[in-house]
Amino acid sequence: MTMSSPDSPLSVLFAEPEVSALMSDIDGTLCRIVDRPEKAKVPQRASECLEKLSTELACVACVTGRPALTARRMVGAPNLIYFGNHGLELLSPGDEEPRMTLEGDEAERVAKFVAKNDSPHWVSAKIRLEDKGAIQALHFRGAGERTEIFVRGIADQAEAAGLVTHWGRKVLELRPPDMAGKAGAVEEIITGSKIRTVVFAGDDQTDLDAVKKLYKLRDDGQIKKLLVTAVASEEGPKELIELADIVVQEPDQWIDLIEGLAESRG
Ligand SMILES: [Mg+2]
Repeated sequence: MTMSSPDSPLSVLFAEPEVSALMSDIDGTLCRIVDRPEKAKVPQRASECLEKLSTELACVACVTGRPALTARRMVGAPNLIYFGNHGLELLSPGDEEPRMTLEGDEAERVAKFVAKNDSPHWVSAKIRLEDKGAIQALHFRGAGERTEIFVRGIADQAEAAGLVTHWGRKVLELRPPDMAGKAGAVEEIITGSKIRTVVFAGDDQTDLDAVKKLYKLRDDGQIKKLLVTAVASEEGPKELIELADIVVQEPDQWIDLIEGLAESRG
Protein backbone atom coordinates (compact mmCIF):
# COMPACT_ATOMS: atom_id res chain seq x y z
CA MET A 1 0.00 0.00 0.00
CA THR A 2 1.41 3.37 -0.97
CA MET A 3 0.02 6.49 0.62
CA SER A 4 -0.33 9.27 -1.89
CA SER A 5 -0.25 13.01 -1.56
CA PRO A 6 -1.87 15.14 -0.25
CA ASP A 7 -3.14 12.49 2.17
CA SER A 8 0.35 11.47 3.23
CA PRO A 9 0.32 11.43 7.04
CA LEU A 10 3.89 12.71 6.90
CA SER A 11 2.97 15.80 4.89
CA VAL A 12 3.24 17.82 8.12
CA LEU A 13 6.97 17.92 7.25
CA PHE A 14 6.28 20.05 4.21
CA ALA A 15 4.19 22.68 5.97
CA GLU A 16 7.56 24.26 6.81
CA PRO A 17 10.27 22.03 5.30
CA GLU A 18 13.08 24.41 6.27
CA VAL A 19 12.41 23.73 9.98
CA SER A 20 11.37 20.08 9.71
CA ALA A 21 13.24 16.88 10.51
CA LEU A 22 12.58 13.27 9.62
CA MET A 23 14.27 10.83 12.00
CA SER A 24 14.20 7.07 11.73
CA ASP A 25 15.64 4.08 13.48
CA ILE A 26 17.11 1.46 11.12
CA ASP A 27 16.84 -2.13 12.37
CA GLY A 28 13.24 -3.22 12.68
CA THR A 29 12.11 0.12 11.25
CA LEU A 30 13.80 0.60 7.84
CA CYS A 31 14.65 -3.07 7.51
CA ARG A 32 13.49 -6.34 8.93
CA ILE A 33 15.25 -7.86 11.92
CA VAL A 34 17.17 -10.92 10.79
CA ASP A 35 19.04 -13.61 12.72
CA ARG A 36 22.42 -12.18 11.83
CA PRO A 37 22.55 -8.38 12.07
CA GLU A 38 25.17 -8.14 9.30
CA LYS A 39 22.65 -9.63 6.85
CA ALA A 40 20.02 -6.94 7.41
CA LYS A 41 19.22 -4.96 4.26
CA VAL A 42 17.61 -1.56 3.84
CA PRO A 43 15.58 -1.59 0.60
CA GLN A 44 16.94 0.56 -2.21
CA ARG A 45 13.69 2.53 -2.48
CA ALA A 46 14.06 3.63 1.13
CA SER A 47 17.58 4.93 0.46
CA GLU A 48 16.48 6.84 -2.63
CA CYS A 49 13.47 8.45 -0.96
CA LEU A 50 15.40 9.45 2.17
CA GLU A 51 18.18 10.97 0.08
CA LYS A 52 15.66 12.92 -1.98
CA LEU A 53 13.85 14.18 1.12
CA SER A 54 17.15 15.21 2.69
CA THR A 55 17.63 17.82 -0.02
CA GLU A 56 14.31 19.46 0.85
CA LEU A 57 14.00 19.13 4.62
CA ALA A 58 16.14 20.78 7.28
CA CYS A 59 17.32 17.35 8.40
CA VAL A 60 16.91 13.67 7.65
CA ALA A 61 18.60 11.52 10.26
CA CYS A 62 19.01 7.85 11.05
CA VAL A 63 19.22 7.33 14.80
CA THR A 64 20.47 3.83 15.42
CA GLY A 65 22.26 1.41 17.69
CA ARG A 66 24.59 0.53 14.83
CA PRO A 67 27.97 2.20 14.49
CA ALA A 68 27.43 5.35 12.43
CA LEU A 69 29.65 4.26 9.52
CA THR A 70 27.89 0.89 9.33
CA ALA A 71 24.58 2.72 9.34
CA ARG A 72 25.60 4.96 6.44
CA ARG A 73 26.84 1.94 4.49
CA MET A 74 23.56 0.08 5.14
CA VAL A 75 21.26 2.93 4.24
CA GLY A 76 23.46 4.20 1.44
CA ALA A 77 22.14 7.77 1.49
CA PRO A 78 25.16 10.10 1.87
CA ASN A 79 23.26 13.31 2.62
CA LEU A 80 21.72 12.02 5.86
CA ILE A 81 22.93 12.55 9.40
CA TYR A 82 23.79 9.24 11.08
CA PHE A 83 23.58 9.27 14.85
CA GLY A 84 25.07 5.87 15.64
CA ASN A 85 25.82 3.72 18.62
CA HIS A 86 22.80 5.07 20.52
CA GLY A 87 23.95 8.63 20.50
CA LEU A 88 27.67 8.01 20.90
CA GLU A 89 28.68 8.74 17.30
CA LEU A 90 27.55 11.61 15.12
CA LEU A 91 28.35 11.29 11.42
CA SER A 92 27.47 14.32 9.33
CA PRO A 93 27.24 14.38 5.52
CA GLY A 94 30.73 14.49 3.98
CA ASP A 95 32.48 13.36 7.17
CA GLU A 96 34.75 10.34 6.86
CA GLU A 97 34.72 9.55 10.57
CA PRO A 98 32.04 10.09 13.19
CA ARG A 99 32.49 12.53 16.02
CA MET A 100 32.45 10.79 19.42
CA THR A 101 30.18 12.21 22.08
CA LEU A 102 31.93 10.24 24.84
CA GLU A 103 35.70 9.93 25.25
CA GLY A 104 38.48 8.63 27.48
CA ASP A 105 38.13 6.07 30.28
CA GLU A 106 34.33 6.11 30.19
CA ALA A 107 34.39 5.08 26.54
CA GLU A 108 36.57 2.03 27.32
CA ARG A 109 34.87 0.89 30.49
CA VAL A 110 32.47 -1.63 28.92
CA ALA A 111 35.06 -3.22 26.63
CA LYS A 112 37.25 -3.76 29.69
CA PHE A 113 34.41 -5.49 31.52
CA VAL A 114 33.81 -7.78 28.56
CA ALA A 115 37.50 -8.58 28.14
CA LYS A 116 37.56 -9.59 31.81
CA ASN A 117 34.37 -11.67 31.77
CA ASP A 118 34.20 -13.09 28.26
CA SER A 119 34.60 -16.85 28.18
CA PRO A 120 34.34 -19.68 25.65
CA HIS A 121 30.98 -20.39 27.25
CA TRP A 122 29.59 -17.19 25.72
CA VAL A 123 30.17 -18.73 22.31
CA SER A 124 28.82 -22.19 23.20
CA ALA A 125 25.75 -20.50 24.67
CA LYS A 126 25.18 -18.98 21.21
CA ILE A 127 25.82 -15.44 22.34
CA ARG A 128 27.23 -13.27 19.57
CA LEU A 129 29.28 -10.38 20.82
CA GLU A 130 29.14 -7.18 18.79
CA ASP A 131 31.95 -4.77 19.57
CA LYS A 132 30.52 -1.27 19.18
CA GLY A 133 33.32 0.52 20.95
CA ALA A 134 31.90 2.19 24.04
CA ILE A 135 28.94 -0.19 23.91
CA GLN A 136 29.14 -3.98 23.72
CA ALA A 137 26.10 -5.87 22.47
CA LEU A 138 25.31 -9.49 23.30
CA HIS A 139 22.98 -10.93 20.68
CA PHE A 140 21.10 -14.11 21.51
CA ARG A 141 18.45 -14.38 18.80
CA GLY A 142 17.87 -18.04 18.00
CA ALA A 143 19.32 -19.24 21.28
CA GLY A 144 17.22 -21.00 23.89
CA GLU A 145 15.82 -20.09 27.28
CA ARG A 146 18.92 -21.29 29.09
CA THR A 147 21.00 -18.77 27.17
CA GLU A 148 18.58 -16.03 28.12
CA ILE A 149 19.01 -16.95 31.80
CA PHE A 150 22.78 -16.96 31.31
CA VAL A 151 22.64 -13.54 29.69
CA ARG A 152 20.65 -12.27 32.66
CA GLY A 153 23.53 -13.40 34.84
CA ILE A 154 25.96 -11.38 32.76
CA ALA A 155 23.62 -8.39 33.09
CA ASP A 156 23.64 -8.73 36.88
CA GLN A 157 27.43 -8.84 36.89
CA ALA A 158 27.64 -5.82 34.63
CA GLU A 159 25.30 -3.84 36.85
CA ALA A 160 27.29 -4.83 39.90
CA ALA A 161 30.33 -3.43 38.08
CA GLY A 162 28.54 -0.11 37.66
CA LEU A 163 27.58 -0.50 34.02
CA VAL A 164 24.17 0.17 32.54
CA THR A 165 22.25 -2.69 30.94
CA HIS A 166 19.77 -2.17 28.18
CA TRP A 167 17.52 -4.90 26.82
CA GLY A 168 16.38 -4.80 23.22
CA ARG A 169 14.86 -7.31 20.89
CA LYS A 170 16.95 -10.41 21.72
CA VAL A 171 19.94 -8.29 22.54
CA LEU A 172 21.53 -7.14 25.78
CA GLU A 173 23.62 -4.03 25.53
CA LEU A 174 26.21 -3.14 28.11
CA ARG A 175 26.71 0.60 28.25
CA PRO A 176 28.79 3.05 30.19
CA PRO A 177 26.90 4.90 32.91
CA ASP A 178 25.42 8.34 32.25
CA MET A 179 24.88 7.68 28.57
CA ALA A 180 22.01 9.68 27.16
CA GLY A 181 21.23 7.13 24.42
CA LYS A 182 18.87 7.94 21.59
CA ALA A 183 17.14 10.50 23.83
CA GLY A 184 20.43 12.38 23.93
CA ALA A 185 20.82 11.98 20.19
CA VAL A 186 17.47 13.53 19.27
CA GLU A 187 18.03 16.30 21.79
CA GLU A 188 21.47 17.04 20.32
CA ILE A 189 20.03 17.27 16.81
CA ILE A 190 17.23 19.60 17.90
CA THR A 191 18.80 21.80 20.56
CA GLY A 192 20.30 24.91 19.07
CA SER A 193 18.87 24.07 15.66
CA LYS A 194 15.97 25.69 13.87
CA ILE A 195 14.00 22.43 13.85
CA ARG A 196 10.39 22.86 14.99
CA THR A 197 8.64 19.88 13.40
CA VAL A 198 9.77 16.30 13.94
CA VAL A 199 8.60 13.01 12.50
CA PHE A 200 10.21 10.08 14.28
CA ALA A 201 9.93 6.33 13.68
CA GLY A 202 11.17 3.36 15.67
CA ASP A 203 10.35 -0.08 16.99
CA ASP A 204 12.26 -0.76 20.18
CA GLN A 205 13.00 0.32 23.74
CA THR A 206 15.76 2.74 22.74
CA ASP A 207 13.31 4.46 20.38
CA LEU A 208 10.84 4.79 23.23
CA ASP A 209 13.54 6.70 25.15
CA ALA A 210 13.87 9.05 22.17
CA VAL A 211 10.10 9.44 21.84
CA LYS A 212 9.71 10.37 25.50
CA LYS A 213 12.42 12.99 25.07
CA LEU A 214 10.70 14.34 21.96
CA TYR A 215 7.41 14.67 23.84
CA LYS A 216 9.26 16.55 26.54
CA LEU A 217 10.88 18.88 23.98
CA ARG A 218 7.42 19.53 22.58
CA ASP A 219 5.94 20.19 26.02
CA ASP A 220 8.82 22.58 26.71
CA GLY A 221 8.08 24.40 23.46
CA GLN A 222 11.39 23.54 21.76
CA ILE A 223 9.51 21.81 18.98
CA LYS A 224 5.98 22.60 17.91
CA LYS A 225 4.83 19.53 16.01
CA LEU A 226 5.65 15.91 16.62
CA LEU A 227 4.46 12.85 14.79
CA VAL A 228 5.56 9.43 16.02
CA THR A 229 5.39 6.23 13.99
CA ALA A 230 5.86 2.88 15.67
CA VAL A 231 6.62 -0.37 13.91
CA ALA A 232 4.75 -2.96 15.95
CA SER A 233 6.36 -6.24 16.97
CA GLU A 234 5.86 -8.91 19.59
CA GLU A 235 9.22 -8.00 21.09
CA GLY A 236 8.96 -4.21 21.12
CA PRO A 237 7.67 -2.12 24.04
CA LYS A 238 3.89 -1.67 24.23
CA GLU A 239 4.31 1.86 25.52
CA LEU A 240 5.83 2.90 22.19
CA ILE A 241 2.69 1.68 20.42
CA GLU A 242 0.52 3.57 22.90
CA LEU A 243 2.44 6.81 22.41
CA ALA A 244 2.57 6.58 18.61
CA ASP A 245 0.34 8.57 16.26
CA ILE A 246 0.78 5.98 13.52
CA VAL A 247 1.33 2.26 14.04
CA VAL A 248 2.50 0.10 11.16
CA GLN A 249 3.02 -3.65 11.18
CA GLU A 250 6.33 -3.95 9.35
CA PRO A 251 9.22 -1.85 8.05
CA ASP A 252 7.87 -1.93 4.48
CA GLN A 253 4.80 -0.01 5.61
CA TRP A 254 6.96 2.72 7.16
CA ILE A 255 8.94 2.86 3.91
CA ASP A 256 5.61 3.14 2.03
CA LEU A 257 4.88 6.27 4.05
CA ILE A 258 8.31 7.74 3.28
CA GLU A 259 7.92 6.88 -0.37
CA GLY A 260 4.44 8.41 -0.46
CA LEU A 261 5.86 11.63 0.93
CA ALA A 262 8.79 11.67 -1.51
CA GLU A 263 6.49 11.00 -4.45
CA SER A 264 4.18 13.79 -3.36
CA ARG A 265 7.08 16.15 -4.10
CA GLY A 266 7.18 15.01 -7.73
MG1 LIG B 1 15.13 -0.87 15.90
